[in-house]
Amino acid sequence: MKNSKKETKSISKLPVIKCFCGTEILLVPNVKVMSEAIEAHTERKHKLKVNNLAEVEAEKVRGYLITQVFDEASKT
Ligand SMILES: [Zn+2]
Repeated sequence: MKNSKKETKSISKLPVIKCFCGTEILLVPNVKVMSEAIEAHTERKHKLKVNNLAEVEAEKVRGYLITQVFDEASKT
């Protein structure tokens, strides 16, 4: 069964960074907003358990995401 409806998906794809966990975070040209988004994601997804392991994981996630932000930023 074919559906020939026009797809309106091809609006210019917004740049995103992707976390280990698969979550995509929209890349915005604002360092403050960006670091808040990273912080919020880390808090929500990677700091669920209150133990040392979770803390180390959170640090890793933060570093990983920030690296991607700078990578992306240097491309454009
Ligand atoms: Zn994540």
